[in-house]
Amino acid sequence: MSAGLSKFVQVVIASPVRHHFDYLPAEGLKATDYLVGSRVEVPFGRRNMTGIVIGHCQTSSIAADKLKAIRQKLDSTAIVSEDLLSLAEWMSNYYHHPYGDTLLSLLPNQLRKGGSVDAYSQYCWKITPHGLGWPDDALQRAPKQAELLNFLRTAERAETDTLTGEAILKEAGHSRASALELAKKGLASSVEQGYYPADCQSILRGQAQDKPPTLNAEQIEACSLIADRLGSFDTVLLEGITGSGKTEVYLRAIDKVLSLGQQVLVLVPEIGLTPQTINRFVDRFDVPIAIFHSGLTDRERLAAWTAASDGVARIIIGTRSAVFTPMANAGLIIIDEEHDGSYKQQDSLRYSARDIAIIRARTKNIPVVLGSATPSLETLFNAQTKKYQHSVLKNRAGSASPPSIELLDIRRQVLHEGLSDNAIAAIGETLFSGQQAMVFVNRRGFAPLLMCHDCGWHAQCDHCDARLTLHNRPHELHCHHCGHRAKVPTACPRCQSSRLLQVGQGTQRSAEALTALFPRFPVIRIDRDSTQGKQAMGERVDLINRGEPAILVGTQMLAKGHHFPALNLVVVLDIDQGLYNPDFRGPEKTVQLLTQVAGRAGRAGHGGRVLIQTHMPEHPLLQIWQTESYQGIIETLLNERSLRTLPPYAHIALIRADSPKPEQALRFLNQLAQQQTNTLNQSGCQLIGPLAAFMEKRAGRHRAQLMIKSEQRKSLHSAVKQLIQSLDQSKKPSGLRWSIDIDPQDVI
Ligand code: ADP
Ligand code: ZN
Ligand code: ZN
Repeated sequence: MSAGLSKFVQVVIASPVRHHFDYLPAEGLKATDYLVGSRVEVPFGRRNMTGIVIGHCQTSSIAADKLKAIRQKLDSTAIVSEDLLSLAEWMSNYYHHPYGDTLLSLLPNQLRKGGSVDAYSQYCWKITPHGLGWPDDALQRAPKQAELLNFLRTAERAETDTLTGEAILKEAGHSRASALELAKKGLASSVEQGYYPADCQSILRGQAQDKPPTLNAEQIEACSLIADRLGSFDTVLLEGITGSGKTEVYLRAIDKVLSLGQQVLVLVPEIGLTPQTINRFVDRFDVPIAIFHSGLTDRERLAAWTAASDGVARIIIGTRSAVFTPMANAGLIIIDEEHDGSYKQQDSLRYSARDIAIIRARTKNIPVVLGSATPSLETLFNAQTKKYQHSVLKNRAGSASPPSIELLDIRRQVLHEGLSDNAIAAIGETLFSGQQAMVFVNRRGFAPLLMCHDCGWHAQCDHCDARLTLHNRPHELHCHHCGHRAKVPTACPRCQSSRLLQVGQGTQRSAEALTALFPRFPVIRIDRDSTQGKQAMGERVDLINRGEPAILVGTQMLAKGHHFPALNLVVVLDIDQGLYNPDFRGPEKTVQLLTQVAGRAGRAGHGGRVLIQTHMPEHPLLQIWQTESYQGIIETLLNERSLRTLPPYAHIALIRADSPKPEQALRFLNQLAQQQTNTLNQSGCQLIGPLAAFMEKRAGRHRAQLMIKSEQRKSLHSAVKQLIQSLDQSKKPSGLRWSIDIDPQDVI
């Protein structure tokens, strides 16, 4: 098609509609004046919306007099690169999500809202030809202006880029007022330009002050495996126990890529992106590093985005959504802790950042490294079947040796606030020998259950099928599923008894108990409640890193990414609940968590000790894990998946529905299933359900789900496509919502 003949502009917007919209160019412009990948403001219904141009066409299915004209251009260049356009197309097909909504959700908020692509802009000044010829003594009565004119003249002669930003003027002691005076006289002129302020929180300047250690043999092998693959697509699984020096391998690979003049994207889990993590990169390299995390303002995020897109930032570090960062010159993608659940987006566009990273690497023809001490079964399966390269670090780096693991049978034991005598004794020994102990509690708050001793009543959320957790300071009941808060009753609402029991252990209660047991030692609690403030987490980590004897109490926030050199003992309060998790990924996740928690112990060469309290010491998973660690358990878990034809041996999609009315979502999915069962079975797909969700009511909505399973990805996707067509056409009861989740992480 000759572009010159195109009359219409194809635009997508963030909308549930699955197709693009045709628009007319604004008066005086041609369709092709709107570049593919640039943003436009378009009228839509009664509103104006930000759209992205995805193409041009000669004919439209809508009559030309019905078409509206684009209101305005928002960009003069294509700010969405071709690879992002095609990534959005791939995602839209794979996740069965509307293309426009997919594409717009890849962009930073500011761009989605139609804001300027320059996060920060400033006036930049330049001397005019008139100013250049101006005699030196002609500004005698305005010495400040004379000085500034001189400054601009020097800049003009000295540099290739002769625009001088206001930040530089200010630094040299010149004011904007003098610059404006020069402009009035025609001696200087200014343009507004984007720039990166030195104190921008999302772009850090590397310091390169760190002296890298000498690699051990395993690390050398891993490094050369990665180095050999630079320049073409491949996926490398770097499996290494905690403390084996995976991060060091990443750093060496990054060094190599930087020396080739390319950029590196590093993805880390949500709770792994600590100042500690970032500092390891800042301390090693002297290049600009763009950071994406949830604590940034929209403007800071945009600055990091453009810095990566321009090629200014050489290393890009971020959590899940950083996987969409455009890069001028990418050379490598690294995904740390690839098994981590935070890589999966759990609402709206339910993508897996790990899988997207692999797709991006393939399109860019560069390698991607997946690192983990506890790789997901899917990834291990791909390594076993040689789809991925596999590099293993079996030993701890430096002088550290792996911790010893003991299962503590707590049946019939007297527990003191959840702690057995053995655990208390071990904590005492650790503290008195000058080291730190960590108690892992899988629940935040004070007690997971408030119950009446006389009639058995317990505090339940009004909006969810869930119990309320008792919190202290403030003394309240919280629902951890919907955020609902309630007063703590002084008497049982059912029988008026005042004998209310606080049952079970939360982090707050364990911290109090440990403070009472060991009053001379600080107890540092780390959970979502105690780390709310911006600095709270950092302050706590600093305190721990001082290395003085202390007790750390926390949830899985403590389990990941931290390197606490003085930590020598880990006590896991209770793991049994995890082993009974009804989700098919439950055992995998529990063993991963155990391994990660255990990995915190003895990272700096004291050996380290891990105590697991359990009522089921003979549980096969615990037994295998204790003797053969995570690696030993893989075959068992994979076998079970194979027997039940579950991922990675099959592919699944989940259609979820919810409604404020009981039964409605289930009825809706039932209808859908009945219509489609025959055709789906013929195409080799199995429908499972619909079933009510495990927690049927959540945040006031009643939930149900339908699983579609197939051993062939292709037939799964055509089945889902068919189901969605039917869903799009069906009459939806008001208030009902449905969504689709491809490769769901949680299926209960
Ligand atoms: P991982 O990412 O696998 O948990 P790290 O890369 O964080 O491991 O390494 C753990 C610790 O060992 C860090 O303090 C790191 O500086 C150190 N380390 C890594 N490689 C070596 C090495 N070859 N020699 C000595 N110390 C090392
Ligand atoms: Zn009662
Ligand atoms: Zn609730």
